[in-house]
Amino acid sequence: MNTFRTRKSSSSRGVLVAGGAGFLGSNLCERLIADGERVICLDNMQTGTPENLASLAREPRFSLIEQDVCDPIPANLDVEAVFNLACAASPPRYQADPVHTMMTSVVGTRHLLDHCERHGARFMQASTSEIYGDPLEHPQREGYFGNVNPTGPRACYDEGKRAAETLCFDYLRGRGVDVRVARIFNTYGPRMRPDDGRIVSNLVCQALAGEPLTIYGNGEQTRSFCYVDDMIEGFVRLMRVDETPDGPVNLGNPGEFTINELADMVLDLVETTSRVVYEPLPKDDPQRRRPDISRAEAVLGWRPTTPIVEGLPPTIDWFASLVRPARETQHR
Ligand code: NAD
Ligand code: UDP
Repeated sequence: MNTFRTRKSSSSRGVLVAGGAGFLGSNLCERLIADGERVICLDNMQTGTPENLASLAREPRFSLIEQDVCDPIPANLDVEAVFNLACAASPPRYQADPVHTMMTSVVGTRHLLDHCERHGARFMQASTSEIYGDPLEHPQREGYFGNVNPTGPRACYDEGKRAAETLCFDYLRGRGVDVRVARIFNTYGPRMRPDDGRIVSNLVCQALAGEPLTIYGNGEQTRSFCYVDDMIEGFVRLMRVDETPDGPVNLGNPGEFTINELADMVLDLVETTSRVVYEPLPKDDPQRRRPDISRAEAVLGWRPTTPIVEGLPPTIDWFASLVRPARETQHR
């Protein structure tokens, strides 16, 4: 199946997924294999795991290269498309080695863009709503430049992703690389790690364990949560659309919830004795976040189809399957 046409070639070669062993990456690899592609996953296993790729272990069209994107990409890797998802996304994980996080976005993205230039491959960058920082404009449109603290503890991620976007558009303008930039808003679903530290995994795992649900601050800050299958569909459409979109494209679910509301939903769905506890809000924690997805709707014909009440039960089942046998899983 030839799905990612490039300027140099019209034959199907292969698709490189950097960060393919992670939460989103492994779901993307599975989707691409199901679509008939040949997929090469490149990952340093910082937050990814071989278990995430277990379903692909015997798939002849799938291969894994264990390496860091900060190291040079093997020059002979002939691919027609590169998805760059390499970068830890959870605040505790990306703050554990902030210099490496920044280098992953800057040096790693440059390596992959150079590879695309060499091979005439199309490129998709997994950017983030974090480039809007603590936004002064709501909901966030792609034209908003953001409100980011460049020196705070989140900066290694936010500013790294902003620099990666800069590189993308310089390679598009100056070197003719066909780049697409997805600004991803909070995404959840099966394959998130229980120790990930983000809100959905924390609340669900705490409820399953009967532990207190930790809410940072007063819980009135908002986020918009997109189910993983919707996000993967957005990636694939963004990469396959013929015309290069004019700038980055927000991908996310516009449904906006406070963290208190999310905790209530989890407590409704999981049989548990857990109660909420309030803890201090981390520094630079954004107060509100909701995507304006009109560009994605117009350019990709995409909008999410899974409301949070439908996405949470399979997510709870996933976490429950990690801690107890599937038949014991209980959500109301
Ligand atoms: P994840 O941590 O599960 O996946 C990231 C993957 O990248 C992991 O497999 C990790 O081992 C790998 N990786 C990290 N640094 C690397 C390096 N230097 N070299 C090679 N591999 C490296 O995170 P995720 O939630 O799947 O996110 C995937 C991408 O999407 C990330 O780039 C993230 O910034 C972006 N994103 C995710 C969300 C979300 O809500 N999940 C939101 C916005 C943006
Ligand atoms: N959060 C929380 N309790 C947790 C984990 C996170 O209240 O156990 C809050 C966090 O402070 C933030 C929101 O939930 O306001 C979303 O956090 P997450 O780390 O999932 O994503 P991000 O802040 O990067 O959007």
